[in-house]
Amino acid sequence: MRRLLLLSNRVTPLQTGAGNRGATGGLAVAIHDALSESHGLWFGWSGRIAESETERRLNTEEKEHYQVTTIDLTEAELEGYYNGYSNGVLWPILHYRADLMEYHSAHFEAYRRVNELFAEQLAQQVRPGDLIWIHDYHLLLVAQELRKRGVDNPIGFFLHTPFPAPEALTALPNHRELMEGLCHCDLIGLQTRTDLRAFLDYLRFEAGGKVLDEERIECFGRRLRAGCFPISIDPDGFAQAAAQVRNEARRRLLISLDGRRLLLGVDRLDYTKGLPQRILSYEHLLEHHPEHRRRIAFLQIAPHSRSEVPEYIHLRRRLEELSGHVNGRFAELDWVPLRYVNRGLSRSALAGVLRIASVALVTPLRDGMNLVAKEYVAAQDPEDPGVLLLSRFAGAAHELDAALIVNPLDYEATGEALHQALAMSLEERQERWQAMMEVIRAQDVTRWWRSFVTRLAEDAWEA
Ligand code: ADP
Repeated sequence: MRRLLLLSNRVTPLQTGAGNRGATGGLAVAIHDALSESHGLWFGWSGRIAESETERRLNTEEKEHYQVTTIDLTEAELEGYYNGYSNGVLWPILHYRADLMEYHSAHFEAYRRVNELFAEQLAQQVRPGDLIWIHDYHLLLVAQELRKRGVDNPIGFFLHTPFPAPEALTALPNHRELMEGLCHCDLIGLQTRTDLRAFLDYLRFEAGGKVLDEERIECFGRRLRAGCFPISIDPDGFAQAAAQVRNEARRRLLISLDGRRLLLGVDRLDYTKGLPQRILSYEHLLEHHPEHRRRIAFLQIAPHSRSEVPEYIHLRRRLEELSGHVNGRFAELDWVPLRYVNRGLSRSALAGVLRIASVALVTPLRDGMNLVAKEYVAAQDPEDPGVLLLSRFAGAAHELDAALIVNPLDYEATGEALHQALAMSLEERQERWQAMMEVIRAQDVTRWWRSFVTRLAEDAWEA
């Protein structure tokens, strides 16, 4: 296998000898495998803040089978590139929330500079024959910067978020510059057919490109290819972890449930995850199907994220208000309908908690894939599986069509789907679960990275 140079904003190598791969995040394991097999290199931000540009450190560490190189960023770079532009502009645009974008040209300049910095550092490491694989929206301009520095190796890019329809993307002031930069890659990977179609539509109708098919694209004077590579998990490893875990978190949760059925949501606290809408759907269920009161408990686990971006602070307030409202309205002396927890869980605790949930609510307003949906399916007891309630706007809904698919903006219908989930027969639950598990097994995370890297190495653009 050719040496792989992988770039991402953050670098999180597995601890060597980390015992339980199953409970480790699927993506982390996949990247570890890809780099180990190719004796590759992983490059990204160190997570450290440099006092000034001259004081930034470049740190290289030899892992067992691959090399990890990281670089420090200054406070100003981080504020502009990461909080300001990546999370304050690109994230909302890519998730159809142009209304939440806070655009400042200075943040875009910082973004461009950090992309240049990454390219400058990586270019010094590239050898003939290496494959370069860039990850996610933080690094859209790196490929172009590498080309400027004479790198002509195959470059692939994978976008973990949705790719929005051109009408939504063009709300971004720098859309053309970013897309032109991106087209310096040889292969662009997207999560779903919908994302792929949107990308090709942009190239065709906005950028005047020529798209014969996904294998033959000409745009901005470059030739490239694109494809759909849905990201996934290691289902058997996760299933094993979920079945084995007998830890304190799980024990305490079971005691507190006291025989009640668990409805569960597990998300980063983000406005794309549809959390207020989810609580309103739960309220609908309690209001219109009072027979479930006292017999169920809804646990929403949502650790804070990106607290430096103002919109996330508004969301926190809104959720505190809504969860207080639902509990105030329905709680009894000995029953709390909704537990809203801002602490995260360890991977193994999460596997155990997913297994005991009768219903998982995975109801984002937009999501590139949503791995929790796949983890929930993998964690189930095949004899008595729970029900997955899944938003049609999650990438995962393209594959997991045997879930109960909902439109999370329709609280009433989602509340009714919750009722349907709670009433579902064992036979139907098993049938749906088997169908979903088959898809996840056939398309696991190993297949994800292997198929991307194989396609990238083919490097064939045939006219
Ligand atoms: P996103 O990338 O937007 O955060 P995903 O669902 O695709 O959403 O992936 C998130 C990963 O982080 C999953 O592997 C999931 O298990 C994990 N995760 C999400 N929320 C939590 C939480 N509250 N505690 C522990 N792990 C979490």
